Amino acid sequence: MRKNHSRIPIAVGHYAELAVPWAMLATIPLVWVPELPAWVLGLGFMPMYVAMALHWASHRGKLCAPCMASLPLQGPELAERWRRGLRTLHWVGDHPLQGILLACAAMMVTGLFMAPAGVSLFFVLCAISTLWAMRHARVMPWCHWCRRRGGGDEEESPVAPPSPTVNA
Ligand SMILES: [Zn+2]
Ligand SMILES: [Zn+2]
Repeated sequence: MRKNHSRIPIAVGHYAELAVPWAMLATIPLVWVPELPAWVLGLGFMPMYVAMALHWASHRGKLCAPCMASLPLQGPELAERWRRGLRTLHWVGDHPLQGILLACAAMMVTGLFMAPAGVSLFFVLCAISTLWAMRHARVMPWCHWCRRRGGGDEEESPVAPPSPTVNA
């Protein structure tokens, strides 16, 4: 009974996910305002938190009904289109230390020139990471880099089924 008590929150939560990275980016102009009161900055983060909360409320780490409906239709195509980003995401996942060091170095260098630029870069990197983590979650069954890892060291696996089956 609890699962389907209302359709609107699920749809809203599903699309709220798309708003999270953009809500994060939308806070960037605030860090450029000199002597901005902290509470205004806090308010600026509200849309991001609301979008995250809505998304979590309807998904709770799983796929919701609209997710399920869109996956088999777009999955393979999107995985192909997003190939480069997915590869970068996997690289960062495999080399977290290097990824963090690179990000910190970029933020420090940018921050040396202009402090708000360093902070802005931080938000940009967070937004990009969030966006790609979400995209990856959507196309994981078709992710070339996940399959490569799951299937052993090489792509060819003799026992692989001829066609992937996805059970709901
Ligand atoms: Zn969804
Ligand atoms: Zn993957």
